[in-house]
Amino acid sequence: MAADYFRMMGRPVKVIYATAGGLLFGVPEFCTVLQGVCDRYGIEVLTKHELIAVDPVRKVAKFALKDKPGETREIEFDMLHIGPPQRAPEFVRESPIAHPDGQMVGFVNVDIYTLQSPVYCNVFSLGDAAGLPTSRTGAAVRKQAPVLVNNLIQVMNGKEPNKRYNGYTSCPLVTAYGRMVLAEFDYSNTPTPTVPFIDTCKERFDMWLLKKYGLPWMYWNLMLRGLA
Ligand SMILES: Cc1cc2nc3c(=O)[nH]c(=O)nc-3n(C[C@H](O)[C@H](O)[C@H](O)COP(=O)(O)OP(=O)(O)OC[C@H]3O[C@@H](n4cnc5c(N)ncnc54)[C@H](O)[C@@H]3O)c2cc1C
Repeated sequence: MAADYFRMMGRPVKVIYATAGGLLFGVPEFCTVLQGVCDRYGIEVLTKHELIAVDPVRKVAKFALKDKPGETREIEFDMLHIGPPQRAPEFVRESPIAHPDGQMVGFVNVDIYTLQSPVYCNVFSLGDAAGLPTSRTGAAVRKQAPVLVNNLIQVMNGKEPNKRYNGYTSCPLVTAYGRMVLAEFDYSNTPTPTVPFIDTCKERFDMWLLKKYGLPWMYWNLMLRGLA
């Protein structure tokens, strides 16, 4: 949206998008459309750039180059917008329910489908603190909650968990004023659109309306009441 705003104002601002990941986005279909968006705005995409330090006096961001071990790169900025690395709260990280190591270290150790701890059968987890290999979103929580509740009740009744979460998540990617890509996908990293006949793999005005008006209404009136 910033890039779109600069364009509308006729400001020649250079925008750089740097990510520690190897791709602009993990799902190929959405990666392609987002690369097109970056090309349109002239955004320079830097992959495998892990932010390790910021010097606010010199206005310099320092990155470790993940494909060149030991090498770093400094980039000057006027404005820096950072998405910090994700981690669970300290009391979770340091508790015995957390993954002790591996990719999900510190997040709650649960079966990625049943959401039940493999160690403590009366422990379940969902949301941002859960060690699930999918994007952490409210949309994912919405799909995890009914699975968790069902499986918890099963266990409380002495039965086995019998519902599975498929990794569904949804990232509303606003690409312009009035345009949005709704990236919905699951553990297999394939698009899983809620409405099958709407092609969400492209920038859409109706998806922007959904984000601006539909989702806030759904959140406050349906999700928080457990109705959706
Ligand atoms: C900038 C931004 C934009 C986002 N946009 C979207 C979006 O468009 N769509 C979408 O689906 N998702 C979006 N998300 C993700 C979404 O907000 C999270 O995935 C979701 O809020 C996770 O819910 P949660 O309940 O697991 O964790 P949280 O919402 O973080 O709730 C955890 C709660 O625990 C509390 N807490 C922490 N420590 C303690 C303690 N020791 N004792 C008691 N309480 C404690 C915290 O204060 C917090 O209220 C966005 C996130 C961010 C940061």
